[in-house]
Amino acid sequence: MSDPITVAIVGSGPAGFYTAEALLRSGRAVAVDIVERLPTPYGLIRGGVAPDHQTTKNVTRKYEEVALDPAVRYFGNVEVGRDVSLDELRDAYDAVVLAIGSPFDRPLGIPGEDKKGVYGAAAFVGWYNAHPDFRNLDPALDVHAAAVIGVGNVAIDVARVLVKTPTEMTKADLPDYAARAIQASPLTDVYMFGRRGPNDAKFTNVELREMGELDNCVPQLDAAQLPKTVEGEASDRDRRLKEKNLATLWEFTKRRADEKPKRVHFCFYAAPVAILGGERVEALRLERTQVVAGQARGTGEFFEVPCGLVLPSIGYRGAPLEGAPFDAKAGIVANRDGRVADGLYAVGWIRRGPTGVIATNRPDGVAAAAFIAADFVHGRKPGRPQLEALLASRRVQAISFAEWKKIEAAEIAAAPPGAPRRKFATVADMLALVDES
Ligand code: NAP
Repeated sequence: MSDPITVAIVGSGPAGFYTAEALLRSGRAVAVDIVERLPTPYGLIRGGVAPDHQTTKNVTRKYEEVALDPAVRYFGNVEVGRDVSLDELRDAYDAVVLAIGSPFDRPLGIPGEDKKGVYGAAAFVGWYNAHPDFRNLDPALDVHAAAVIGVGNVAIDVARVLVKTPTEMTKADLPDYAARAIQASPLTDVYMFGRRGPNDAKFTNVELREMGELDNCVPQLDAAQLPKTVEGEASDRDRRLKEKNLATLWEFTKRRADEKPKRVHFCFYAAPVAILGGERVEALRLERTQVVAGQARGTGEFFEVPCGLVLPSIGYRGAPLEGAPFDAKAGIVANRDGRVADGLYAVGWIRRGPTGVIATNRPDGVAAAAFIAADFVHGRKPGRPQLEALLASRRVQAISFAEWKKIEAAEIAAAPPGAPRRKFATVADMLALVDES
């Protein structure tokens, strides 16, 4: 048999795993190494999907099957750019696939963004998901009102996690520190601001409807902002989705503000222009907009909403990785349909930007595997032994998949009643567990 094509996939989120799966099915002999900077795999499934949406996380069972394939090896706790450079990986492997996602917040670009009380969704979601990078965010939740900017699914996640009751979170894997902070918060009102109209909102209907079914919180909406029908050009599918959202939003207009102790206010045609206050946020200043040719245009009319917390949830961006060309405007690795350079490919959000659901990443993986199968008939570079030698020479403690399973087993064993797991929130705790077992 010819030598397997050696492939390093950088990143173990959905795009990385779909690529590994597609490579295994490509009909070529492959040796696939998944290199992940955290000890824990699964990227946004673990660190992004909301802690109360556990069924969405079930897809990891499929990823685990891929990880356990004899042709696949997991190298957790190995950061490309810190422990090993991209150039070194490209030297070691026939093909390198970047599946590094979009881990950072897009900036709002308005005055006051640096005040205490402003947390972008990447950081805030990471915090309530026990992501080690954001474990110490310590958001100031001692506020009565919060402003969430953006009307996409991340914005909905952020608003919902803030207002759900402890009982509603019983089956979630919200870390204890976040649960305590949220429960202790006097928050009663969350404002969600869309710079365009209800027809342009990005959230999907299941997520929107859930906001009308919460134990302690009622949605609020000014009927004057709602059109009777879906306006403008849209495909049949898009129109049906928008019609569903519109019907749900109309339902929300019938809800009384005093029905429940907390409220989520959906506010459209409002673009943030400044975050006001001293050291801490005291209010958000917005400009009323109208939508012209699909774009929000300011009307010159301004208003302020008092709030102590501003949570921009306006989309993510990738970071440059040394050795890969970066399209700074788009916040992605510069690529042509997933091809970056000879033997270098990109998949998922770092390829096409932060849009789509988990399964949207699958075709990216299939495309990258097809490129690799077309570019290589058999392998030429050693791959795994060269990476292992590099890591050993630098005393990097790579975490194997079996070691991750020990971390996972400990998290499951420590789960509070009803919850799936109690997550480790620091790399040190994860490594200590591996070392002692
Ligand atoms: P998104 O769907 O693109 O939504 C971003 C929102 O921010 C939009 O409402 C956008 O308004 C607004 N925005 C952008 N720039 C702004 C600015 N400067 N000022 C004010 N508003 C601004 O992104 P996302 O919510 O981060 O979600 C990312 C992807 O993950 C999406 O595909 C989403 O569906 C998916 N996701 C899915 C789930 C789920 O299925 N449950 C959960 C979470 C995330 P404009 O439209 O006017 O630009």
